[in-house]
Amino acid sequence: MKLHWRGQRHARAKAAFRWTLALVLFSLGYNGDRPACLACPCRAVSSAGVPAGNQAVAEGLRKVQSCIAEAAGGRDVRLVAVSKFKAAEAVQAALDLGQVDFGENYVQELLEKASALPSNVRWHFIGRLQSNKVKKLVNIPNLVAIETVDSSALADRIASAAQAAGRGEGGIDPLDLFVQVDTSNEETKGGVQPNDAPELASHIAACGRSIRLAGLMTIGAPGDMGAFDRLHAARSAVAAALGVPDAELGLSMGMSGDFQEAISKGATSVRVGSLIFGSRPPQKL
Ligand SMILES: *Cc1c(COP(=O)(O)O)cnc(C)c1O
Repeated sequence: MKLHWRGQRHARAKAAFRWTLALVLFSLGYNGDRPACLACPCRAVSSAGVPAGNQAVAEGLRKVQSCIAEAAGGRDVRLVAVSKFKAAEAVQAALDLGQVDFGENYVQELLEKASALPSNVRWHFIGRLQSNKVKKLVNIPNLVAIETVDSSALADRIASAAQAAGRGEGGIDPLDLFVQVDTSNEETKGGVQPNDAPELASHIAACGRSIRLAGLMTIGAPGDMGAFDRLHAARSAVAAALGVPDAELGLSMGMSGDFQEAISKGATSVRVGSLIFGSRPPQKL
């Protein structure tokens, strides 16, 4: 009887130990030898929250790339690696591995990185854009896109700066613009209401050769998967208004926490930061 009781206690202690070990390994992001993506190792990396060194950048990039490939199932989906608040060296590490599209939120930070890094980087501006900074931004020769256009006045300023910079002529590509859509009704994040997207998109499409309407972008409230469907629907409305096929317009949606869902909802471009470069201090978008 006594022996039996001791055996039970032993078994319980063993079980408790196993659970604790499992929990510790899980929170450290241990994936054992499971194939990438099955257990979404990307999430485990982000929950560990360690600042990424260059080795970690390589690891994070590789995992995100394989998760994208798995979710895309052969479809072409662009990864924009979001490097805000991260050192130029971290961008260089990813660039060395063949990642060329990078996203930045702040004009000053982008100016500094653009001058420190090689010109084959393709920069995407994904932050709030103040009109007095448009010219500086557009003059970065390897800026390929501004993804946060939410007014026709801003589009006009960008178009004239792009024209002054010679974009869209003499072999220089036009600058890609995305209409930012507020799909979660969160005014703080910017963007036009879905119903207003066709009008702004038509305005951009008529702005001349220096810019090109590349598609729609949304941030969406965390956990609001309906945001992806709403951006998808907004694209159909825009395409119908312009008389072009839906597929001619891109959908930039999905971040570290939800890029696989976004891809399953038709994203053509995802913006992933912390899973590649490590967590950031809290900030305003
Ligand atoms: C910071 C940022 C991202 C990347 O966020 P993560 O959660 O780190 O992947 C994507 N899009 C926008 C607009 C951002 O500001």
